[in-house]
Amino acid sequence: MAETTPDEAFEQGAREFLQANAEPRLEVQQRWGEGSDNVSILPERTLEEELAELEAARAWAQRRFDAGFGWITGPVEYGGRGLTRDHQRLYDALEASYATPPMTAYGIGLGMVAPTILAHATPEVKERYLRALWRGDIVACQLFSEPGAGSDLAGLQTKAVRDGDEWLVTGQKVWTSGAHLSDIGEIICRTDFDAPKHKGLTGFVVDMHAPGVEIRPLRQMTGGASFNEVFFTEVRVPDSHRLGDVNGGWTVALTTLMNERAAIGGGTATGSGNMGTERLMELVRHQGRADDPLVRQQLASIFINGRVASFTNLRAMAKVAAGQLPGPEMSIAKLTLTMNMRRMADLLSSVLGPKLVADSGEWGAYAWGQFVLGLPGMRIAGGTDEILHNIIGERVLGLPKEPAAR
Ligand SMILES: Cc1cc2nc3c(=O)[nH]c(=O)nc-3n(C[C@H](O)[C@H](O)[C@H](O)COP(=O)(O)OP(=O)(O)OC[C@H]3O[C@@H](n4cnc5c(N)ncnc54)[C@H](O)[C@@H]3O)c2cc1C
Repeated sequence: MAETTPDEAFEQGAREFLQANAEPRLEVQQRWGEGSDNVSILPERTLEEELAELEAARAWAQRRFDAGFGWITGPVEYGGRGLTRDHQRLYDALEASYATPPMTAYGIGLGMVAPTILAHATPEVKERYLRALWRGDIVACQLFSEPGAGSDLAGLQTKAVRDGDEWLVTGQKVWTSGAHLSDIGEIICRTDFDAPKHKGLTGFVVDMHAPGVEIRPLRQMTGGASFNEVFFTEVRVPDSHRLGDVNGGWTVALTTLMNERAAIGGGTATGSGNMGTERLMELVRHQGRADDPLVRQQLASIFINGRVASFTNLRAMAKVAAGQLPGPEMSIAKLTLTMNMRRMADLLSSVLGPKLVADSGEWGAYAWGQFVLGLPGMRIAGGTDEILHNIIGERVLGLPKEPAAR
């Protein structure tokens, strides 16, 4: 039977592993004007940089997994350790004081695809991919959005047609983060064109190296190219790689989307993006605006709403920790985060003005442009602000439903 609380032996083992395999993280107090002034929301890297980062992340993931700390809460039969979330939390807290490589490439695979495989895949697919995903041997992506289906995901048109023990997948996906680094993808396809749109979908795990898969990068306005268009031409997928029932893909997609909202909304404790309000206050001081009452009011609002976002997150996380399914709290958590990031962008615009768009060479000025340009992506990914407002209005507040589109 699984232990219910972490014991001394677990903690000791974790400490020994970290001491032997990683360097303690040095607390560097960054001073204004020194070091990098990068404040981008999504990392912007060249393909070479991405590959080098992946290599470092993979080496770390493999070492950690082989020592028993890679999938602490996972079922033992699929390579996990069968322990509790408390064990995971303890390990995470210990690891946080060590310098470990960024695990960006694994975010979607471990945060969204792996939980969906665990919930809906055949034993064969669980066996084949879960261990490999958690060990970092493979990377996974999420193949949901299409040129004509984003918020209205159930309108997707990529088709899967049965051919004996296999399915033939044909169509186009878009905005696929990390497809160019991925080995497998979770894809939702239409398998019944006559059924109502939510009822004709089926999920699969697809091999991204299979013949007929073509990946084309898309460059975003921040300069990076972390998204892709992915074209499928009669790609063969074994029926064993089906997720859930034929035409039961909507349930599969919801599992992934709820985990996505949890991952984005829960990704920060401050609810203000990847940096705290400290840095904003420094900026305001250095731009000589610290005495401006309107700016002070904006800053106070960002701080207060950051705390509110953080408490909403904690509430949502407590529900997950208690073994309940993530619900509308995740939508609230994601929305409070992006709303606060919008307040930050408004403050930046009023404090920096033209310096935000023209590079004056001043440290900590033009760099904020990356934050402002990255913000729309945050407001769209994992459910747009408008869609989340609808969900909260209808499912939390019980307001009348949106009139259906004609
Ligand atoms: C950073 C980022 C990463 C992403 N990664 C992935 C990925 O890995 N895999 C993947 O499959 N997709 C990914 N996406 C795509 C994302 O899921 C879609 O962009 C999103 O679902 C919105 O769909 P859309 O772009 O088609 O916009 P649309 O759905 O066409 O929406 C356009 C506008 O209309 C509004 N709108 C739409 N319907 C309603 C309504 N009913 N009520 C009110 N307003 C409405 C929206 O809020 C939005 O402002 C990513 C997107 C971003 C920005």
